[in-house]
Amino acid sequence: TQADFGVVGMAVMGRNLALNVESRGYTVAIFNRSRSKTDDVMAKHSDKKLIPSFTIEDFVKSIAKPRRIMLMVKAGAGTDAVINELIPLLDKGDILIDGGNTFFKDTIARNARLADSGINFIGTGVSGGELGALKGPSLMPGGQKEAYELVRPIFEQIAAKATQDGKPCVTFCGENGAGHYVKMVHNGIEYGDEELIDETYNIMRNVLGLSVDEMADIFKEWNKGELDSYLIEITADILTRKDDLGSDKPIVDMILDRGNNKGTGRWSSGDALEVQVPQSVITEAVYARYISMMKDERVAASKVLNGPAKKVELPEDKKELVEKIRQALYFAKIMSYAQGFEQLRFAAKQYNWDFDYGKLAQIWRAGCIIRAGFLQNITDAYDKKPDLTNLLMDDYFKDIANKYQEAVRDVVALAVKAGVPVPALSAAVIYFDSYRSEVLPANLLQAQRDYFGAHTYQRVDKPFDQAFHYPWYAEG
Ligand code: NDP
Repeated sequence: TQADFGVVGMAVMGRNLALNVESRGYTVAIFNRSRSKTDDVMAKHSDKKLIPSFTIEDFVKSIAKPRRIMLMVKAGAGTDAVINELIPLLDKGDILIDGGNTFFKDTIARNARLADSGINFIGTGVSGGELGALKGPSLMPGGQKEAYELVRPIFEQIAAKATQDGKPCVTFCGENGAGHYVKMVHNGIEYGDEELIDETYNIMRNVLGLSVDEMADIFKEWNKGELDSYLIEITADILTRKDDLGSDKPIVDMILDRGNNKGTGRWSSGDALEVQVPQSVITEAVYARYISMMKDERVAASKVLNGPAKKVELPEDKKELVEKIRQALYFAKIMSYAQGFEQLRFAAKQYNWDFDYGKLAQIWRAGCIIRAGFLQNITDAYDKKPDLTNLLMDDYFKDIANKYQEAVRDVVALAVKAGVPVPALSAAVIYFDSYRSEVLPANLLQAQRDYFGAHTYQRVDKPFDQAFHYPWYAEG
């Protein structure tokens, strides 16, 4: 028998994805550049409907046409290497699927290049880590729609199912690089969520002086309400864990404060600059990781640069303050998603995609790292108004933002007074204030630009398409 589906790359993601597909009743061909990983899979899963191959030629031959082949290899050069080996062996109509964390512009280029040879190319975001790949990831495919239809039954079976309505967490995102774009923004949002949670932890710890145990209980409590999400849940769990190497300290106190990254947050921020849309919460989260990496410099600076001389005054009962921090976190999370979806809207214009925003929120409800109860509210917002400009213009989000703004102002002010950095929380409230400002000081900016560079300006009393230049130097 020939395989229904093929997977290249038997590292943790590819292996688990292959097992996930197999578990739905399919026969899966598997291949890895170096033999040992394939041997290992077969040693552990000899009872499964897997067809191992040790040359790429045998691998291709073992799959039924039109072939559906998913690449789960190291993104970048790895993906190109595998594609180049596969191209001469494939037939018109075959479908290559790249499930790696690929930069969307690479996917656009590969899609165009392969289309010339009649081979379909689907770039798909895969979120949820190794467990997601095995049990049900969130999938964000983009490419040729007709080709996706041939992959859809499998993707819908292997994807995570939302707890709300059992719907699979997969939807066709759009042409060429649309899926990888959506995954990129998803990853940026993930950076933002993590940083915002980390900042609230920092305030509770270093301003309120709460213990790790107390914070574990607080996050557990928060997870029962509006903040209900995977990241809050694991944060609560992390804070209960003790050091596994012998000390009696919480494990968080033994982990070095250097935040690593694989570059996807940077891509997201970089493209926000490109499509000219503010995405400050996520970008501050990226910067927060960068400054955290400068540990040696920070240690040196901490010895010579002073924080505020006066200690902040705290109320006797910290409960009210903890509630304010919770509200600040939810407020900031909403700003971050408002920015993320705004970025998708701008990108859609720039790259010619037609996103179904409600569906995008829908497929993040399960399987992925940012899964959270509140994604349902985003879906509802776009269901009500598919052409919604910004999440903040939806009643639910507008009401929360208006209600929680006092809390976020108090919390950010307190942190600033105490000298505890809150870059993402501050960015959130600043975005809110900018977005709701009927008038910004860009009038003065335009005057400056016109003064030194004759860049012209528009007037409040004339149509936008008319340009004016002021005679700044007329009197000599
Ligand atoms: P890695 O990203 O560590 O990649 C290792 C795999 O790539 C191995 O199978 C390796 O083969 C293969 N490979 C690397 N270079 C080449 C090459 N030049 N030619 C052929 N094969 C090559 O594996 P992961 O399983 O962690 O991830 C796979 C993909 O999924 C990546 O793109 C990753 O970004 C993405 N991803 C990962 C997630 C995660 O949580 N880990 C989540 C979502 C997506 P060999 O064994 O021969 O070295």
